[in-house]
Amino acid sequence: MSQKVIIAIDGPAASGKGTLAKRLAEHLGVPYLDTGLLYRAVARDVVARGQRLEDCDAAVCAAKAIDAQSLGDPGLRGPLAGDAASIVAKIPEVRAALLEYQRGFASESVRGAILDGRDIGTVVCPNAHIKIFVTASDEARARRRHLEHEGRGEMIPYEQVLEDLRRRDARDKGRSIAPLEAASDALIVDTTDLDKEQAFATVLCLVEKRLQT
Ligand code: C5P
Repeated sequence: MSQKVIIAIDGPAASGKGTLAKRLAEHLGVPYLDTGLLYRAVARDVVARGQRLEDCDAAVCAAKAIDAQSLGDPGLRGPLAGDAASIVAKIPEVRAALLEYQRGFASESVRGAILDGRDIGTVVCPNAHIKIFVTASDEARARRRHLEHEGRGEMIPYEQVLEDLRRRDARDKGRSIAPLEAASDALIVDTTDLDKEQAFATVLCLVEKRLQT
C-alpha cells in the first residue's frame, strides 16, 4: 500500500469480523485495534472496583483511565465480559472517553490501520477509505460461538449461546448512541455459508479492488 489506508470493520458478535480484521492487518502489514476489548476492559475495571456496570460515574472513570497494556488480559475474551461490555457501551460518556483513544490509534500509524467494532465506519472513522460490515445468521454465529466454548471446555448449551447473542445484539442495535449498524457506504459481507478461508478471500478481494480504484 503506497498511501495511508484506514479500514473499518464492523459487525455483530461472532460474525467473524475479529478474525478477518486481524488476518487482514497481518496481510497488509498495518496495526490492528480490536475496539471491543476497550469496552470489555472498562467493564472489567468497574467490576474489579466493586462498582455496578450501570454506574455511569464509575464506568466513565474507568474509561478515562483505560490502560492499553491491560488489553492483552485473556480474561477479557469470555462471553460474560462481552455481555458486561455491552452494558457500559450504552453510556454516552464512556463512548466519548474511548473515542479519543480509537481515533488516536487510527491517526498515529503512517501506513494506516484496521479497527474493528460496532461503530467504526459510522462514528469512529466515518472517513475510512474502506468500510466492511461483516454479518451472518444468528444461528451460524451461535454455532461458531458454541464450538469455541466447547474447544475451551466450557459446556454452555447451544440454545443459551443463541439467546445470549440475540440479547447482546438487541442491546447493541437498540442503544441511543452509536448503535450497531452498517455505514451507508459499507460493503456487506455475509459469512453464513462461508468458512474462514472463503470469508478471508472474499474480504481480501473487496479490499484489493478498492485499493486499486
Ligand atoms: O466486539 P466485542 O464482542 O468484543 O464487543 C463487546 C461489546 O462492546 C459489544 O457487544 C458492544 O456492546 C461493545 N462495543 C461497542 N462498540 C465498539 C466495539 C464494541 O459498543 N466499537
